Amino acid sequence: MKPSITTSLQGKRGLIIGIANDASIAAGCARAFVAAGAELAATYLNDKARPYVSAVTEPLGCKLLLPCDVRIPGQLEAAFDRIRTEWGQLDFLLHAIAFAPADDLHGRVVDCSAAGFAMAMDVSCHSFLSMARLAEPLMKAGGCLLTVTFYGSERVVAHYNLMGPVKAALESAVRYTAAELGPKGIRAHAISPGPIRTRAASGIERFDELLDATAATAPEHHLVDIDDVGALAAFLVSDGARHITGTIIPVDGGQHLVA
Ligand code: NAD
Repeated sequence: MKPSITTSLQGKRGLIIGIANDASIAAGCARAFVAAGAELAATYLNDKARPYVSAVTEPLGCKLLLPCDVRIPGQLEAAFDRIRTEWGQLDFLLHAIAFAPADDLHGRVVDCSAAGFAMAMDVSCHSFLSMARLAEPLMKAGGCLLTVTFYGSERVVAHYNLMGPVKAALESAVRYTAAELGPKGIRAHAISPGPIRTRAASGIERFDELLDATAATAPEHHLVDIDDVGALAAFLVSDGARHITGTIIPVDGGQHLVA
């Protein structure tokens, strides 16, 4: 049964970065934001990805669909320029992107190349800071910045490898962002879901074993899905959460307690 959304996001506008297809965590969040009354803009990685992204965003009434590969200089800035021109302000942002080169991701962390480490950090972590900086002048009435992390940041999870230190840096980036932008009423959080079968997850070796182990050991013995993440995301960007900031919030059936 899907969680019902009682949070109201009426009158709020958000930018969603990280929809690849209808299985994406960002897709579950986008559906929850719209169910709560928000208006959305979204980005797609490239022309190949665009039809899969628009299949998610069109039914949600999302009129602004913009290209954004954070590795292409100027593309993120151009997306925010469009938001400024079309909307003039922004209430919330979801950063749900990650990438690491397969060779570096599949080996030991101690063996990862400097180039692979830098690319993973750039796409998966520094991009959050860039988005926070670009969102800041648009969040004139305050706002909320969300990203998505995983408990492999603090515990060693088999095969999560290089993404562990990258997510640890992302979580720290959230705390500093919350501290620096808090005086402007801009909040920041990292949602930490349990494992969910998505395209990005398929890059993690033996991901099925992680799903099985989580279902076996999490206190709820239940795997979360993208709607569970969306329900939390909708609450976090709502006015009901206006004095909550700088947190790393698990939505994982309690797996973080026993991992
Ligand atoms: P996904 O494959 O659906 O989404 C990953 C997104 O990253 C894609 O939309 C892709 O286009 C985007 N991306 C990759 N490189 C990019 C670039 N250079 N510029 C712009 N976008 C780029 O997978 P997902 O699982 O929904 O991943 C979303 C986030 O959730 C990631 O940060 C991931 O680490 C995190 N997360 C996933 C799980 C899980 O089990 N699936 C658990 C915890 C956290």
